[in-house]
Amino acid sequence: MRAAFFKEHGGAEKLLYDDYRDPVPAPDEVLVRVRACGLNGVDLLLLDGRFPPPEGLPHVNGCEVTGTVEATGAQVRGLATGARVIVFPGFACGTCEYCLRGERTVCVRYGYLGAHRDGGYAELVRAPAANILPLPDAIPFEAGAAVPLAMLTSWHGLVAQADLRPGQTVLVQAAGSGVGSAAIQIARLCGARVITTVGSDDKIEFAKALGAEHVVNYRTQDFVEETKTWTGKRGVDVVVEHIGGATFERSIQALTRLGKLVTIGSHDTHWGRVDLRHVYSKNLRILGTNLGSILELRTILDYMVAGRLKPVIDRTFPLREARAAVQHVLDRRNKGKVLLVP
Ligand SMILES: [Zn+2]
Repeated sequence: MRAAFFKEHGGAEKLLYDDYRDPVPAPDEVLVRVRACGLNGVDLLLLDGRFPPPEGLPHVNGCEVTGTVEATGAQVRGLATGARVIVFPGFACGTCEYCLRGERTVCVRYGYLGAHRDGGYAELVRAPAANILPLPDAIPFEAGAAVPLAMLTSWHGLVAQADLRPGQTVLVQAAGSGVGSAAIQIARLCGARVITTVGSDDKIEFAKALGAEHVVNYRTQDFVEETKTWTGKRGVDVVVEHIGGATFERSIQALTRLGKLVTIGSHDTHWGRVDLRHVYSKNLRILGTNLGSILELRTILDYMVAGRLKPVIDRTFPLREARAAVQHVLDRRNKGKVLLVP
């Protein structure tokens, strides 16, 4: 098959488009013909070596995949060849303490499609049958591929972890990203009010169209001051944080008492300082979020069919132009998800 892969770490220039070993499904796995694959922040960490692929190099990125069933392993039942599917990207062992508690996303042997095994920057990908969900006819392959990581993690962070309620206020970092554009919509669906940040003025109208009430250009404005002003000096109930570094530290300062910071990524840096006085004196909670459940993914698909959630797609690139697609994201030119189509 053809795939976009890398043999050494670095920038977009390290991505090669060439022949690659065909994935062979195990008896309990499904071979999926990729129809669309979303780019994600974690892809960049895998590529540049900040999060080196656990299985080593060469490696194929891509954790958000929709496609059709190409073939099934001998033990797989109920999945017809050609069926439209979406791949749940998290793999859990099913037997560790946390899996047995029903908390599969913190499985001690947890793995990701596109991280712990080759992903969807390819014509074909394999995944356990347990990770394959039907993709409703009403959802195009491209829209579906914008969901499994960005939309699902935002959903789990806001709905399950932060327990977001109508009338609460949310600061969403980076409206232009896949996570940001999803989190704004989900917060609005919960009946919350949203303030968000962008890195350029041309993204302000985009963020407002998604449902943000107030948009801050973090390059020219202080988002903590803007948040305080917008909330009448109070601060927000919830922050969705996926940047890290100085943004993390400042996000804590944007919270009101009993506020919750949902951290679902570290696309700038893995490190974030915390002024502990804010945390203990205001009874703040810092909530880590890793993906969500398969049931939550199905719920999101239901909301998409109903027209209540719409993943924002910035641009679709042919798979052979994966290098240009990754550079587009590295340059922060995207408004929403960037996709690859074989
Ligand atoms: Zn487990």
